Amino acid sequence: MLKINDIFSLLKDPKKVVITTHQKPDGDAMGSSLGLFHFLKQFGHQVTVISPTNWADFLDWMPGTKLVLDYERQTAEANAAIDAADWIFCLDFNTLSRTKRMEERLSNASGIRILIDHHQEPQIDKFTYGISDTRKSSTCEMVYDLIMDSGNEANIDESVADCLYAGVMTDTGSFRFPSTSASVHRMVATLKDKGLQHSRVHEALFDNYLENRFRFIGHVLQNRMEIFYEYNTALIAIPQQDLVKFDVITGDTEGLVNYPLSIKGIKLAAIVIDRGEERKCSFRSKGGFDVNTFARKYFSGGGHFNAAGGQSKEPLDAVVAKFKAAMAENKDQLSNYQF
Ligand code: 5GP
Ligand code: MN
Repeated sequence: MLKINDIFSLLKDPKKVVITTHQKPDGDAMGSSLGLFHFLKQFGHQVTVISPTNWADFLDWMPGTKLVLDYERQTAEANAAIDAADWIFCLDFNTLSRTKRMEERLSNASGIRILIDHHQEPQIDKFTYGISDTRKSSTCEMVYDLIMDSGNEANIDESVADCLYAGVMTDTGSFRFPSTSASVHRMVATLKDKGLQHSRVHEALFDNYLENRFRFIGHVLQNRMEIFYEYNTALIAIPQQDLVKFDVITGDTEGLVNYPLSIKGIKLAAIVIDRGEERKCSFRSKGGFDVNTFARKYFSGGGHFNAAGGQSKEPLDAVVAKFKAAMAENKDQLSNYQF
């Protein structure tokens, strides 16, 4: 993989560009894709943003979401864009399998794949150019760095600023995770100078719950959460019938895994959701417990040191049993927790 800086001199030659990200894009995935979209459009590129799947409604306020293709619903149009692309930016993921049904088309594409990502263990042989840096708070921070390092600060307009802020804010847990460096705060200061209205972004993302989502969260915390104090661990397991009963849609479960981490003493939180076709797992930790390794080892997943995910084709009960066995296997680390 060649350095991302090698494309800087080519940024202003109009090209056909595809920007894509991981399935079920979150704030960072969508924010970095649309931030880069609004930046590149200014140089006359023909840019198409493709999401492998649908996304949460609370991202729809971002400028440009109406133009994003959903690969599952607009497959033919998306395939045509992928096949024609000179450049394919891959943002906020680093293994092509994270694009689900798009994977095959992406790996066979003749366009140059460019990686911008902050997850562990990238498939670097799949990308011609790129940057992979696990120290970065977010992919939005990395897109910001690309804009600044290529000497294009003047091209950060309000749309770019809103999108990049949304991703850096959500991926840092509103600027509380250890990845929130001084550079992140400097980035936000620059975005403010460019017209960012940060309160509007927070409201759009966090104050748009429908009543059913709130009641669903209440139900889950009351009835689906188990605490294992001897392991400093909490587990939430959600059967499919709950998703149906509360009309849960994409995005409604986002952030749920973080709730138990606010309980005194809890250092590892896990959630398993029965999505029908698979059981989706999320893991979050505080401090020294490495959930990236944990997710890789037991749940065919990965991610970051303190935030990772995985999945399983086994039934919910079996996944819960597997989690409990994995927790017991890691007893020494979990029960003698070092801050
Ligand atoms: P989440 O729990 O919010 O789905 O994901 C947490 C982090 O782990 C995100 O950075 C996400 O990209 C990553 N992640 C989630 N699921 C998987 C997975 O199945 N495989 C890998 N490699 N990473 C994942
Ligand atoms: Mn991210």
